[in-house]
Amino acid sequence: MYIILLGAPGAGKGTQADNLSSELNLPHIASGDLFREALRKETELGLLAKSYMERGELVPDEVTIKMILHRIEMPDCASGCLFDGFPRTLAQAEALDKGLADKGKSIDKVIYIKVSDEELLKRLGGRWLCRNCQTPYHLITAPPKVPGKCDKCGGELYQREDDKEETVKERLRVFLAQTIPIVDYYRGQSKLIEVNGNQGIQEVAKEIMLLLKAK
Ligand code: ADP
Ligand code: AMP
Repeated sequence: MYIILLGAPGAGKGTQADNLSSELNLPHIASGDLFREALRKETELGLLAKSYMERGELVPDEVTIKMILHRIEMPDCASGCLFDGFPRTLAQAEALDKGLADKGKSIDKVIYIKVSDEELLKRLGGRWLCRNCQTPYHLITAPPKVPGKCDKCGGELYQREDDKEETVKERLRVFLAQTIPIVDYYRGQSKLIEVNGNQGIQEVAKEIMLLLKAK
């Protein structure tokens, strides 16, 4: 199964991907995590992505598409994966369809997690992530058991530079302008599942599983 998690920054894609990837036994492919890893290793890709990420803008399609199509060639994606943060533009969605079709595969479902802007700002303002395994936490809604440490691997928690208010506003603007159009693209393919993301983490997880089973 090839599944896409779609939603604004802070909608809970990474949080739900953690649960879904173990429930469905699918690798979690997060484009933002891949860019941050490249940045940490100071590769050519990381250095190219850096300025766009700092400004809250999208990394150019050509670069992003190449990175993801390369990633899904790896053996762990042979029978499916869970995309998080990709695609984010129509060109990316079309390139992904083509890349999968070349392998005789296709996207099965697109889960669109809808969250109000007010809630997104609260979530991003309190988000902390594990530097080691990228698990997301929240100061109020999903705190770690030991402050500053990841429950899963003990890694150090940090706040993303681009979660500061000015950059978040730009990221939300970019989402509306460039990513919202792909909602209709997948609705047109009858693949879209819309989920009320304004609920607690467990409630959202339950709704996703119910809707996936129903369709
Ligand atoms: P995304 O991957 O879509 O950017 P995350 O999964 O990182 O979003 O979630 C953003 C923040 O909101 C994190 O701090 C996370 O712990 C918190 N969060 C995620 N889902 C919920 C939810 N349903 N209710 C409350 N807080 C949530
Ligand atoms: P995320 O971790 O998904 O919030 O992504 C962090 C940043 O990485 C974004 O603000 C973009 O600069 C970049 N990025 C992640 N995914 C994509 C994508 N699919 N297309 C373009 N840029 C991306």
